[in-house]
Amino acid sequence: MRYQILAPDQRKCRRCRKFALRGEDRCRRHVGRGAPWRLLSPAQGRGESRMLARLERVGLLPLELLVLPVWRNLQGIRTSERAPQRLALVLAWDKRYKAPLHWAQVQRQAMDLALKYPGSRQPTAYWYENL
Ligand SMILES: [Zn+2]
Repeated sequence: MRYQILAPDQRKCRRCRKFALRGEDRCRRHVGRGAPWRLLSPAQGRGESRMLARLERVGLLPLELLVLPVWRNLQGIRTSERAPQRLALVLAWDKRYKAPLHWAQVQRQAMDLALKYPGSRQPTAYWYENL
């Protein structure tokens, strides 16, 4: 507080009386925007990537799918293309007996995507392998 400029008409936080953010009536803590990673835009495949991370955490990514070349070959492709394709694979895998043609089509799409970037397999950190 020693170096804070006294501004009597500066808006204060309604919860804790600290200085409020510009255009807000709450301070930085109480404005409630959450952790910084929640601010990441859902664009560029991040939404799908987070969905895959959630599925992996609760054990819903089937091992039989993760070992398939069609899944592994997407590794190293940029998130904006990889994550939506992998999410499509998971969803199609789930319905592969009811909709085998859709499963075949999604596999084909994934293979084409991998072929689009020949030699794009980069060593990624293992905890990103399935996202
Ligand atoms: Zn506050």
